[in-house]
Amino acid sequence: MKILVAEDDITSRIILEGVLKKWEFTLVLACNGKEAWDIMKSKDAPKLAILDWQMPEMNGIELCQRIRGINTSEPPYLIVLTSKDEKKDIVKALEAGANDFISKPYDNQELRARINVGKRMVNLQSKLGDAYKALKHEAMHDPLTNIPNRRSIMRLLEKEIARAKRGKTGLFIGLCDLDYFKRVNDTYGHQIGDEVLIAFTRLVENNLRLNDHLGRYGGEEFLIVASCPEESKQNIMFERICEYIRNSEISTEKGDISITVCIGVARYTGVENSDALLAASDTALYHAKKIGRDNVVYADTI
Ligand code: GH3
Ligand code: MG
Ligand code: MG
Ligand code: MG
Repeated sequence: MKILVAEDDITSRIILEGVLKKWEFTLVLACNGKEAWDIMKSKDAPKLAILDWQMPEMNGIELCQRIRGINTSEPPYLIVLTSKDEKKDIVKALEAGANDFISKPYDNQELRARINVGKRMVNLQSKLGDAYKALKHEAMHDPLTNIPNRRSIMRLLEKEIARAKRGKTGLFIGLCDLDYFKRVNDTYGHQIGDEVLIAFTRLVENNLRLNDHLGRYGGEEFLIVASCPEESKQNIMFERICEYIRNSEISTEKGDISITVCIGVARYTGVENSDALLAASDTALYHAKKIGRDNVVYADTI
């Protein structure tokens, strides 16, 4: 584990360095508060820091306060190590954001035990952070295809509508429904059907630009949210996706499978909310299915 030691007194620093290295910590050294601050605000900053109180450039108390001002989900564990030992000093350090306070001269075993408390807290915090990220990902993604789920793609749509309203960009949504997908399940089984759904999302993703979004709207229906230049009345990306799907073979253990898709497209004209856009794309999709399969229909052409 990496530990920052901020200590201006060279003798104290060398002694501390010696014991910490013996305990197999990796050390980052700073000989004044400013140097320590530069290290602690960097991207790969140590998660545990031992800070002297009195240092040139910036004292340990200001350093604690500044570090606590950093917006992070994994704040570092801060131990103030100082020759001050009055109650009011301890209170001041803790109030400034320190997690612990050790007075010099310190006992090596106590120092080690306190560092280990910090290490436990840092590890616990990191595990909590990982669990939070995993839960957040699960809550926002479809487990089969790992693309945004319905809740998530709807949020993205709201965001893109707000952005289109503010800015000078146009916005299209395309509701995609795989053609005769029930037949795929009936012919090859549900598991191969699942594989085809996953492959479909990868094929669509190949055709999206960086700021476009694809989400699973439900079953074999997917929603594409795509921004474009403001005046565009069409977005050829949808035709391109339809063609690309038609011409792609999806290889499965039961052989290569071809599928087609219908896409109902609605354009944001500056006034619609997400419900209205979805309703328009759904109507367009219904028309696409009605006139055949494997096609793209724009809501404003019906
Ligand atoms: P259409 O061209 O009219 O859209 O015909 P379709 O067969 O695609 O439409 P229908 O709504 O009758 O069938 C959709 C099928 O999609 C039925 C359902 O079992 C299947 N499906 C929905 N979700 C999943 C899934 O997660 N995995 C698999 N394998 N199949 C799914
Ligand atoms: Mg000092
Ligand atoms: Mg359907
Ligand atoms: Mg279908």
